[in-house]
Amino acid sequence: MEIIIGKSSGFCAGVRNAITKTEQELKQNRQKIDCLGELVHNKQVIEKLEKKGLNLINNIEEAQNKVIIRAHGIAKEIYEIAKQKGIELIDLTCPKVLKIHEIIDEYTKNDYYTILIGIKEHPEVIGSISFAGENSSLITEKEEIEQAIEKIEKLQTKKILIVAQTTFSLKKFEEISQEIKSKLNDGKYVVEIKNTICSATKIRQEETNKISQNVDYMIIVGGKNSSNTKKLYDISIKNCKNVECVETINDLKIEEIKKFTKIGIMAGASTPNESVEEIVKALKGEDKK
Ligand code: SF4
Repeated sequence: MEIIIGKSSGFCAGVRNAITKTEQELKQNRQKIDCLGELVHNKQVIEKLEKKGLNLINNIEEAQNKVIIRAHGIAKEIYEIAKQKGIELIDLTCPKVLKIHEIIDEYTKNDYYTILIGIKEHPEVIGSISFAGENSSLITEKEEIEQAIEKIEKLQTKKILIVAQTTFSLKKFEEISQEIKSKLNDGKYVVEIKNTICSATKIRQEETNKISQNVDYMIIVGGKNSSNTKKLYDISIKNCKNVECVETINDLKIEEIKKFTKIGIMAGASTPNESVEEIVKALKGEDKK
């Protein structure tokens, strides 16, 4: 049996930074620290941090301690509420997400209308779009383009900024942004397309595509509510009949998988290396030694 593990598997730089800094804070503070939303979409990692004193809150109003802002970032209004209430923030927003906030903020001040291409309910998207205010649209599917164009025409705005959620599918972003550009291609509009997809996401998606074309069983490891993990599954299932998306080794039928000759493994951005190592060991039978 051959096992191919994605080189780009596991924690991305933004998540690694958030976890390392949170651990340092918990060690130094020796008291509870609140975290607004799950620090990473990974149950096992969260449970470990909770044991060390991390307290998850869902709303800034619930804060009782210093509050960690995770790599996804937050909406502009939350910074304002924290300031008003004197809540100390430990801002671990990934620099690449902060960059999107800056771009949207700057273009909005210059009268641009923002189209953000991403998953509407994703916390990063909710945070980023808040920097554009009312003059904005969120698009996930091509079918939503017309609605955004109607809004643009109604507002008589002539300058359009198009950006992406950092973990959005590159292929889909290119298709949607090019279609918007071609529909607004009558000389009246200025359309600025900024590909803000994180290179870590792009590399991981490309590698997943490659591996899944060459294996007969593909394992995607990651949190159930992680959007980047779900995308890896979607890419793989187009290339390989047997794809399984799991959080931990406990979700896998190892003995069944051992029947396959070529197995690929890729992990999402919120998955620790240990989760992949555990699966590899079990497949090789090294866990029983
Ligand atoms: S995927 Fe990229 S943008 Fe998102 S947290 Fe990781 S490094 Fe930052």
